[in-house]
Amino acid sequence: MPLESEPSPVQELHLDLATERDIRVYVKRDDLIHPTIMGNKWRKLKYNLKQAIDDGKDTLVTFGGAYSNHVAAVAAAAQEYGLKSVAYIRGEELNEHSNATLREASNQGMEFRFVERSRYNEIKLSPAEVDDPACYILPEGGTNALAIKGAAEIIGEINTEIDQIMVPYGTGGTMAGLIAGLGGQCHVYGFPAIKGSGIEESFAQLLHHYHIDYVNYSLINQWHFGGYAKFNHDLIHFINIFYDENNIRLDPIYTGKMFFGVWEMIKNDQIASGTKILCVHTGGLQGITGFNERFHDLIRFT
Ligand SMILES: *Cc1c(COP(=O)(O)O)cnc(C)c1O
Repeated sequence: MPLESEPSPVQELHLDLATERDIRVYVKRDDLIHPTIMGNKWRKLKYNLKQAIDDGKDTLVTFGGAYSNHVAAVAAAAQEYGLKSVAYIRGEELNEHSNATLREASNQGMEFRFVERSRYNEIKLSPAEVDDPACYILPEGGTNALAIKGAAEIIGEINTEIDQIMVPYGTGGTMAGLIAGLGGQCHVYGFPAIKGSGIEESFAQLLHHYHIDYVNYSLINQWHFGGYAKFNHDLIHFINIFYDENNIRLDPIYTGKMFFGVWEMIKNDQIASGTKILCVHTGGLQGITGFNERFHDLIRFT
């Protein structure tokens, strides 16, 4: 895949729910960018890959949990661009066969260092490779200045008139990029997939750190389903029905929760009649195989 990819499509959904209220719903299909370097992970890696290659690095080094979409994307990108890759994975009991994400990354040539949970945060701050000039280090989740620059490019690909943008939220890097790219136009709603106090504050700090000054955004903290990677039957049912009705696959960690939240907002008339909303499909589909292995094929597609 060349470092420049085609713009992903913007697709309108035809939903009775929305039509009845004169709301129009569009999806930015970043899940279609690439089968493995997918969605926001591609956006966030793009300029980092350019930088690594320009700097003559030969190895990408990163960090993550055992099912991390970011780790999966780094492994796929490294293979595609002829780089080596190393990931520090949280959990010393794991190995490269532990789940589908790790198996696939291992097949793509990624090397793992499985580390104790108690030491993981410390290692993240200064991995052994930190002084190795051949290594390019990517933070956990992939958010840095170049990631935000990549995510901002989503905005330039939207040729439809839009009033509000909806996006899943993990570290907030993608949302920060959208806000930067919009330059103050449109309200952005972020849907945290994590539960925690202080998300507002850490996002405000993130924006401040990257000199993004716009304040027309909101974090909707209601749809984390108990926290990161937590789910219930309603969420899984929603994801399966959504696929049947729209032929779009959602993942249970990020995009499923966001769309569920958006649908609730529409149903509860929290989105004004006449509004045009754009939901960013940030990908994440690599995780479904591993999810289904653990939870007996609850999701009806892979
Ligand atoms: C990683 C990820 C996110 C979170 O992105 P941030 O930039 O960390 O907020 C959202 N959606 C999907 C599918 C992801 O893989």
